Amino acid sequence: MTTCEPRLHVAAPDELSGRVIAITGAGDGIGRAVALACAAHGAEVVLLGRKVRKLEAVYDEIVAGGGPEPIIAPLDLERATAREYDAIADAIRARFGRLDGLLHNAGLLGDLSPIEHYDVPLWTRVLHVNVTAAFALTQVLLPLLRAAPDASILFTSSSVGRRGRAYWGAYAVSKFALEGLTQVLADEMSGVTHVRVNAINPGATRTAMRRAAYPAEVAESVPLPGTITAAYVCLLGPGARGMTGQTVDAQAPRLPRPA
Ligand code: NAP
Repeated sequence: MTTCEPRLHVAAPDELSGRVIAITGAGDGIGRAVALACAAHGAEVVLLGRKVRKLEAVYDEIVAGGGPEPIIAPLDLERATAREYDAIADAIRARFGRLDGLLHNAGLLGDLSPIEHYDVPLWTRVLHVNVTAAFALTQVLLPLLRAAPDASILFTSSSVGRRGRAYWGAYAVSKFALEGLTQVLADEMSGVTHVRVNAINPGATRTAMRRAAYPAEVAESVPLPGTITAAYVCLLGPGARGMTGQTVDAQAPRLPRPA
């Protein structure tokens, strides 16, 4: 049964010990911070990303911190072929025989522009990376997730995936789609597998994507990725067993600034 409350969670040192957790977009931003946190709490982490150099840097940081040795799995979600997806599944199967957690964190912002003028090829790229690739990776890894005694799939949403906002275009639509995918898959898994499926909204977090979306924002006013990782550990770990089909916020809502 669920024992953790993601926003208030304080992770135990060995909370993820013995778990194998795959994370997309693990080379930077929130994905990097969650990968480091998962390893710090004992998980064997599969670092998925498109830039090997960035993944190697995260690998080195994990090993230097005394965490379990991760594996690096290069995957460009915009261009990956079916064979590359299969190769990731084969590598995880050969090394671990199962997968306990899958965090779909990678994302593409696209343009902030009106629907009327949104560039169609860019729209397709954003929907592909954010939604179709997450679907395809989930599909190919499901047998390994089913093989785990308590597996957690976590999609990454956003506040603009719950309430539409002008100019957020393909990004907002992709996040609505991920909320839907979470519910559909959670319902399919419910009662017939130990696989739980949830979505997390990290909230405003100081990353390259945030800077691109809010260039005029005072960066120091935005929480760093390392401050929100406990919610991810909670949802990927044993404390959230039994919780499925939910969308969770990693942070408390920010108070409006005084006038
Ligand atoms: P970020 O620093 O820009 O990280 C995005 C990650 O996605 C990077 O690791 C990037 O890899 C990866 N990525 C992009 N395109 C890819 C592709 N084709 N193949 C593989 N990986 C790809 O942004 P972030 O803020 O950490 O975002 C993480 C997640 O949180 C996203 O899903 C985002 O929508 C969500 N989110 C963020 C905020 C926020 O305020 N930061 C708020 C709500 C939701 P590279 O390093 O190689 O570019």
